Amino acid sequence: MKRLASIGFSWGHEYGQPPKTPEQLERDMRRVQEILVRIGYGHAFDPKRFYYDFHNVEVGSELFNVLIEELQKDPHLARPGSISIETRYTRKELGSAELLIWGPTNQAIEDDYYDFFAEDEEHRDLYRYCSACGAPHEQIREIVINKARMGKREVSLTYSNEVILSERVGQLLQEQGLTGFELWPVHHYKKAYKGEPTLYQLRVTHVLPPMASPPTEFDPVWTRHCEVCGRTGHYLRREHWWGKIHYYEDTDVYYPRSVLKVVKDFNHTVEWFGDLRVTHRWIIITQRVYRLLLEHKVKNWAAVPVYLAK
Ligand SMILES: [Zn+2]
Repeated sequence: MKRLASIGFSWGHEYGQPPKTPEQLERDMRRVQEILVRIGYGHAFDPKRFYYDFHNVEVGSELFNVLIEELQKDPHLARPGSISIETRYTRKELGSAELLIWGPTNQAIEDDYYDFFAEDEEHRDLYRYCSACGAPHEQIREIVINKARMGKREVSLTYSNEVILSERVGQLLQEQGLTGFELWPVHHYKKAYKGEPTLYQLRVTHVLPPMASPPTEFDPVWTRHCEVCGRTGHYLRREHWWGKIHYYEDTDVYYPRSVLKVVKDFNHTVEWFGDLRVTHRWIIITQRVYRLLLEHKVKNWAAVPVYLAK
């Protein structure tokens, strides 16, 4: 696994902060120049340019260590939001994880036509919604979309985070006897057209027990709860600090190892994520599904390992 950082810093005025005095600006500009010189990028300094950013800086590398050491001395040069870390897993790590968080890498499909676009008499809800917070509860009919939006994709999301599968992928999952899901028909919003594809909605039917928390960390600031329907919209913790420096990084997801006794091939988290009006559950797959999708060269999805706690 590699943790790759994007690190940005600036000597200019900071949005939402009182303007800097000419002396402060001069001082901060010199500090930025010094930092660039120290990391071997002195040539990149330009007195007309405020902001400098570096991408794919491996955490623990020399460049990373020097940048963080310098910014600890002047943390105001790196404002909140200008440093983030992404984890890249190797094929081997992904290929040995017993469970993985899985999802489409595109959200190409507009939402259900009668729920999202149609007005007055034509309008028909796709879900039963909470009248207080607007959270979607059970889906009460089959989905109706503009199928042309799917294009050549094999897996895609609607704006409401429903997973749409191509005919090939839907059939593959069924033929292999995988568990924990059902396929629902997907309808085109207007008259049938030439070459209209058969699409399926992936409906995950099995729900896992709660994540192990800790070590999984949720963000208490963003989490919202509706007293009327009881829905909680979680976010994984993403804000962290190194000394005085603020940065963003997704927290890993852990389950108790005992989850393996109840897991199906497709699973929903019992936790809901996101803003209440668009809360959705994450999908967790087994290694068997991961391998099957790779073996059959299914495109347009990504997976991240889940960790098992004792
Ligand atoms: Zn509610």
